[in-house]
Amino acid sequence: AGGPVGIGVDVGTSGVRAVALDTTGSRVATAAEPLPAADKTAAGDVRQDPALWWQALLRTLRRLAAAADLSGRPCALCLDGTSATVLLAHRDGRPLGPALMYNDRSAVRAAAGVADAAPVSSPARGVGASLAKALHLLAQANADPQDLCVLHQADWLTGCLLGRFGDSDWNNALKLGFDPAAQRWPSWLAGLGLPAQTLPQVHAPGLALGSIAPSAAKASGLPADTLVCAGTTDSTAAVLATGATEPGDAVTSLGSTLVLKIIAERPVTASDYGVYSHRLGNQWLVGGASNSGGAVLRAHFDDAALARLSARIDPDVPSGLDYYPLPGVGERFPVQDPSLAPRLRPRPPDDVQFLHGLLEGIARIERDGYHLLTRLGAPAPSRVLSIGGGAGNSTWTAMRRRLLGVDVVPAAEQEAAAGVARLALAAL
Ligand code: ADP
Repeated sequence: AGGPVGIGVDVGTSGVRAVALDTTGSRVATAAEPLPAADKTAAGDVRQDPALWWQALLRTLRRLAAAADLSGRPCALCLDGTSATVLLAHRDGRPLGPALMYNDRSAVRAAAGVADAAPVSSPARGVGASLAKALHLLAQANADPQDLCVLHQADWLTGCLLGRFGDSDWNNALKLGFDPAAQRWPSWLAGLGLPAQTLPQVHAPGLALGSIAPSAAKASGLPADTLVCAGTTDSTAAVLATGATEPGDAVTSLGSTLVLKIIAERPVTASDYGVYSHRLGNQWLVGGASNSGGAVLRAHFDDAALARLSARIDPDVPSGLDYYPLPGVGERFPVQDPSLAPRLRPRPPDDVQFLHGLLEGIARIERDGYHLLTRLGAPAPSRVLSIGGGAGNSTWTAMRRRLLGVDVVPAAEQEAAAGVARLALAAL
């Protein structure tokens, strides 16, 4: 026995991970299962059978339920999925075919149609957005669109747990065109041939939707009265995990790419820079992503070398190098320039000095990124929580603290699953 348990499930790019938290925030249990790689074609299609997600989710939940004694404890579950992974399903949830994954780039024609109809500031523009993917799937579908629903990965899996389909959340639905400020679908969507009946009902992330379906409770091993909540996207869940809550709390993700997010009281949008805002309760998560980041570091050094060389850098001394590290030509944020070339010369013979220049270059991009977000209307960062592969590099943290002029710390909690577990707990 014991108190309430929030179960968070992160369906990420390579696997499913579940975390069960009690009301003190302590882990009751964790479980994880890998996901198979998606099917890729030369044409830019990246597809996957949603049944593979459901099987991996059930395996993960069975492990979680076996690792924790949940009987008699009030449980709620909240799930995040990869942003802009989309499928078409019949009303009863049966997928029409494979889903288009987050990194699918096949909806080129549909994206051109969206570009004609959507306002320039819409996050639903672009070949990778949910909207183009949904239209692309509908154009290929051999069924009456009125009988179908468009669902994201998290929407569909949440539906499988609930035993009914057609619900989504502000964060997943943003790239499908939903307006989270007005809380409705915009009128320009109608011109795109997407019938209103095919669009999901959109809820606040973490809103309790109902009890788990009896068959799903049995298959997963979760208690029969487990509450299932509206979900969110994987990157939003990662921010929620860090504990960032106040306007000015910033989260920098130092993964393959450099992603900046900051909590604001108002949404900020700048389509030229790829800046848009997710709604979180009555606040907003303003974000921008640079093409710079860990992928450039990895092109030159493996992780062991990064750690070894970083330890020999003095973070208080400028490198004297003026790099703009990019993995290829083109940048969007904080510089909007498709022809910007990587600037990585001169290369000093000493690798310590070279890495010093790389880390400092990326830190300058981070500083300029927060400056740009502030110019666009977001608050200035009051503290920066770091997540991702570079977050634990204390030399880099010190360098970034000097350049940003505010406290920079690795986030104590970096697991997206813990972020959605917090949402689930709040629903209880
Ligand atoms: P993603 O999920 O975006 O692929 P991760 O969060 O797993 O990325 O981070 C991987 C990145 O972290 C790699 O690109 C690597 O260069 C970088 N990285 C790993 N170790 C270090 C380190 N000690 N210092 C700086 N960067 C690092």
